[in-house]
Amino acid sequence: MDFAIPETLRPLLERARRFVDDHVIPAERELLGGGSFAAAEPTLRELRARVQAEGMWLPQLPREWGGLGLGLLEHGLLSEVLGRSPVGHYVFGCQAPDAGNMEILIHFGTPAQQDRWLKPLLRGEQRSCFSMTEPEQAGSNPVWLGTTARRDGDEWVVDGRKWFTTGADGAAFAIVMAVTKPDAAPHLRASMVIVPADTPGFERVRNISIMGEPGDGWASHSEIAYRGCRVPADHLLGADGAGFLIAQARLGPGRIHHCMRWLGICERAFELMVQRAATRELGPDYVLGQKQTVQNWIADARAQIDAAKLLVLRTAWLIERSDMRQAKAEISAIKFFVADVMLQTIDRAIQTHGALGITDDTVLAWWYRHERGARIYDGPDEVHRAVVAKEHLARAGLRVRGSDGGRRREGGE
Ligand SMILES: Cc1cc2nc3c(=O)[nH]c(=O)nc-3n(C[C@H](O)[C@H](O)[C@H](O)COP(=O)(O)OP(=O)(O)OC[C@H]3O[C@@H](n4cnc5c(N)ncnc54)[C@H](O)[C@@H]3O)c2cc1C
Repeated sequence: MDFAIPETLRPLLERARRFVDDHVIPAERELLGGGSFAAAEPTLRELRARVQAEGMWLPQLPREWGGLGLGLLEHGLLSEVLGRSPVGHYVFGCQAPDAGNMEILIHFGTPAQQDRWLKPLLRGEQRSCFSMTEPEQAGSNPVWLGTTARRDGDEWVVDGRKWFTTGADGAAFAIVMAVTKPDAAPHLRASMVIVPADTPGFERVRNISIMGEPGDGWASHSEIAYRGCRVPADHLLGADGAGFLIAQARLGPGRIHHCMRWLGICERAFELMVQRAATRELGPDYVLGQKQTVQNWIADARAQIDAAKLLVLRTAWLIERSDMRQAKAEISAIKFFVADVMLQTIDRAIQTHGALGITDDTVLAWWYRHERGARIYDGPDEVHRAVVAKEHLARAGLRVRGSDGGRRREGGE
């Protein structure tokens, strides 16, 4: 393995780093403590225009779609730079959930769907959301869905309730996971349907309050009721029953992207921690960083972040040389490992800052509130740990099925 940063990427990483530090980080203040996405949006819009003009927009997408054509590893390295601010990815046009929706519209959308839904997303003129999780059904068992889309003549009629639909507030459309073939095998029951937000029956019930903050706009998660939403038949994305296949295509790279973004959070939290330790005077001529406990926090955080980074880079490298399926266990391993390292790093940085750490005068409290979800979304820790463990048990001849502890030996019952 070669971990050297490609020479061709270096100038872009340096430019992006300067842009994030000089312009994006100052702009994030409007979002923190008492601020809102609406307040930050005019500045973010200007910054997006500058990123477009400077040729750094849509780094993750192929050139034929107006992107920079970066590979997974390259985008990962850039993603770490952008992750230094909660709005870094947004300013560069590669924010969740739009980035995932762009990918599936490119791979599975019809030319008409791409014209109507994808192209405005690529231009940054509208936002989208992805509506799969439901309040009444366990999200960690994704094949268990209550929302249905019933074919009625030339239309699909969508009924159900979703929640934690990120960025639904102000989104132009939702890609909704709904059961269209109730009698099919579990993984072939659901499809993805594009539902414009102005469809009669689309009701954004509320922005869900997360640790005291309902948020707004892109920085929010909504509960949505779909009450008999009628959309034309051509709003089906991909084949009827292909919902899970498409979801897998969306989630695989999405997990890598999250991990890389989390590494950016780790790096900035680490910098803040070290800076504070080096300058916070505990008394005359005596600073926090002279305490061995704090030195241990710094050393442990550094070692953990470096280990996490190497694991993520290796996983991206593996995927680029094989495919998502071959790297399934590695993707699961970084998902729970990096989330844990990130949360420990944020917590240590907060502790180092004392009372200041829990104020909104630094970005740390925002991340403490909003990144706790990292151990839950895109599959909770426990599910990913099971994937890793089962892979290794299978290599030892024990095939474990389901999560109920039922077990079978290879070639057995
Ligand atoms: C910040 C955030 C943003 C999100 N954005 C979106 C979005 O844009 N669109 C969308 O559709 N969804 C979104 N989600 C929802 C997310 O995908 C679900 O929360 C996730 O799939 C878990 O489902 P659940 O919350 O229903 O938990 P449950 O399935 O009820 O699980 C609860 C807990 O049970 C444990 N558990 C579950 N399964 C197992 C198992 N097999 N073995 C052992 N323990 C287990 C885990 O500890 C888990 O945390 C988001 C969630 C968060 C927190």
